[in-house]
Amino acid sequence: MTENEPQKYARSKEIYQRIRCMRCTHRIDLEKDQKEAYCPACGLGWVITWVTPDIPMVLRRIMPNIPK
Ligand SMILES: [Zn+2]
Repeated sequence: MTENEPQKYARSKEIYQRIRCMRCTHRIDLEKDQKEAYCPACGLGWVITWVTPDIPMVLRRIMPNIPK
């Protein structure tokens, strides 16, 4: 019994597209129709807009909630 299962990828998340962090240019993996993404390198959050169903673009930065 053999299953043709790729071992390089975790099955939990499907990576659909990638964008680049506008601060550090690290690649950020996106799922389909994902609206927000956080850079794994510098931790900044970005609001994602989809120009077409295939092409994501960074719209603006997610401002962190700074406690007073
Ligand atoms: Zn970054």
